[in-house]
Amino acid sequence: MKKFLMQEPALVQSPAGHRFTILRNFCKGCRICVAFCPTQVLGLDDRFKVAVLHPERCIGCRLCELRCPDIAIHIARGSVRKAGKAAAPVSRSGEK
Ligand code: SF4
Ligand code: SF4
Repeated sequence: MKKFLMQEPALVQSPAGHRFTILRNFCKGCRICVAFCPTQVLGLDDRFKVAVLHPERCIGCRLCELRCPDIAIHIARGSVRKAGKAAAPVSRSGEK
């Protein structure tokens, strides 16, 4: 992979734990990801490459990744769990 990439991927992590991997040399600046992001996280930088402008707004929907025609942006969802009661273990036979 390293040999194939002209540039190391840019890595960004949101406060909620979503991790962005951006392959800048794949990005052609088409803005599709910018248009589809429902929370306006993304924009273009001064080189017309995708930039994560507001990582704190990311909800991890992965629309940007799914819509990018050049596989230039990848999202790994964070593992933030809601606070609350842990689920009770259930036995295979259904006994409590
Ligand atoms: S959709 Fe892909 S190629 Fe287009 S601006 Fe976004 S990351 Fe770059
Ligand atoms: S994962 Fe969803 S909210 Fe986060 S940057 Fe991509 S489109 Fe926007």
